[in-house]
Amino acid sequence: MIFELPKLPYSPNALESVISQKTIEFHYGKHHQAYVNNLNNLIKGTELEDEDLEYIIKNSEGGIFNNAAQVWNHTFYFYQFAPKGKGTPSNALLKAIEKKWNTMEEFKKEFNQAAATLFGSGWAWLVVNKNGDLEITKESNAGTPLTKGLKPILTFDVWEHAYYIDYQNRRSDYLNALWEIINWEEINQRFDK
Ligand code: MN
Repeated sequence: MIFELPKLPYSPNALESVISQKTIEFHYGKHHQAYVNNLNNLIKGTELEDEDLEYIIKNSEGGIFNNAAQVWNHTFYFYQFAPKGKGTPSNALLKAIEKKWNTMEEFKKEFNQAAATLFGSGWAWLVVNKNGDLEITKESNAGTPLTKGLKPILTFDVWEHAYYIDYQNRRSDYLNALWEIINWEEINQRFDK
């Protein structure tokens, strides 16, 4: 199938003060688009060309895996935001967070810590593991929990292209700011699914 860059559920300047329009234009408009284009070119004429994105991620390696996983990861990342944030964690999600980290604040602290200490490029993830419990994981480069039987709920992109225009080398400031624009209604749905 021919993949397309998914439309953002907000305007490019809607996340300003946390993620600038300029960052959206590069991160979404150039990087995310490039992963889509690369993937389409790489699967052309291969046995994967008629498969869906998750199948390709779970059944490829090298360049095809990297681009397919980056398409999926970026869509998942961009779709978890709303201007000034939206909603609050559901009772069920809050209960699961408190079971593992005692408080929401402690969870955010540990999540930021995982993302801040990820060496090089990659992603921090909140996932549901095989026992149904929440867990924080880190993935380098294009790594994604989809290949590990984990259900992703939330992710912070810590590739420099995600924050360098707005925060330069201050990755921690970027991580702290992201919590202001989380769309908890979207996160709750992912958790319930
Ligand atoms: Mn990125």
